[in-house]
Amino acid sequence: MNYRLIPERLKPIAEKIEAGQRISEAEAVDLYRSNDLNALGIMANVVRERKNGNYATFIHNRYINYSNICVLSCQFCAFAAKKRDAHAFEHAVGEIVNVVAEALRLGVTEVHMVGGLHPTLKKEWYMDLVSQLRALDPDLHIKAFTAIEIRHLAQRIFKMPIRDTLETLRDVGLGSITGGGAEIFDPVVRDTICRGKETAAEWLDVHRTWHQMGGRSTCTMLYGHIETLEQRVDHLRQLRELQDETAGFTGFIPFAFEPQTTILSHIKPASAFEQLRNLAVSRIYLDNIDHLTAYWVSLGLPLCQVSLSYGVDDLHGTIIEEKIFHMAGATTPQQQSIAALEHAIREAGREPVQRDSYYRHLAPRAPVERTAGAELACA
Ligand code: SF4
Repeated sequence: MNYRLIPERLKPIAEKIEAGQRISEAEAVDLYRSNDLNALGIMANVVRERKNGNYATFIHNRYINYSNICVLSCQFCAFAAKKRDAHAFEHAVGEIVNVVAEALRLGVTEVHMVGGLHPTLKKEWYMDLVSQLRALDPDLHIKAFTAIEIRHLAQRIFKMPIRDTLETLRDVGLGSITGGGAEIFDPVVRDTICRGKETAAEWLDVHRTWHQMGGRSTCTMLYGHIETLEQRVDHLRQLRELQDETAGFTGFIPFAFEPQTTILSHIKPASAFEQLRNLAVSRIYLDNIDHLTAYWVSLGLPLCQVSLSYGVDDLHGTIIEEKIFHMAGATTPQQQSIAALEHAIREAGREPVQRDSYYRHLAPRAPVERTAGAELACA
């Protein structure tokens, strides 16, 4: 590490990072308070390189939102609807299966599927959905349902304990649960931005249970609304502690809040500076989570490319159709081509590698697929 580029005040933290030592919550807050973005990037880069060398990954995936009908009304959410609302939607199992079959023809390795907490869909509907997707392709990874959806299914639909619900879904094909719904764990923040949602302990418990069953999942943080820096660090602390216990998180994906069309629209969206700072501090603090993903849907691909020098080693995926952030006002495209992701990574001096749902590297694809339909978004 080039210590001449690190301000005096942060040098003791930089020395810890270089020695592979864990930083404290107070030190993480100090880093969040620093405006020396380049110094944060240098420190985060040490952790990134130690864990991932020169590789930067992406996944070829397809997002599906089966329905936005939800019994809750989280204040930050522009996606959810009540059945009577004009923008409410609910796809039939057959429709979803057809869309995924089409995506499989494009070569996706994962379907990522979440929805609202639907009040009336039955257990059979969910079982049918997952098992029909599994029947399409035994190798397709089905990553589905946030921790709160799992709790909703367990308590109101399946009427089973969490573990039995997860086992039942796994038996018909569920590969991973998603990391969404974590927001910020602090109870006062939760009560303001998502009253009625599961608590931090409940979110963590679903993931703990899944990890104890041998499953893996990602974890997230929705930041840039009303939380303080201390509350952000407290959120990271709880993720780091669960990871110490289970080692079940494969990657961390922070999301910047998109306020535009929500009832919190008076809040200023997180700046590019803040998003890079958040990624860098997360990379340094979460020393036990191997991968850090930049979500191009909220950062945009050019800033994701820059984030590869601020601790990031993964640019998420092709996604193909993102709805949740776009309904909240995101102006980024709804999909990325593999060529655009690879190009962005290569331009940043990293080696692009397609990964699977566990961030494992996949064998290189044939050149004919590599260039088909290429659209360079980051030239
Ligand atoms: S964030 Fe999730 S649980 Fe909350 S209202 Fe939106 S869809 Fe429902």
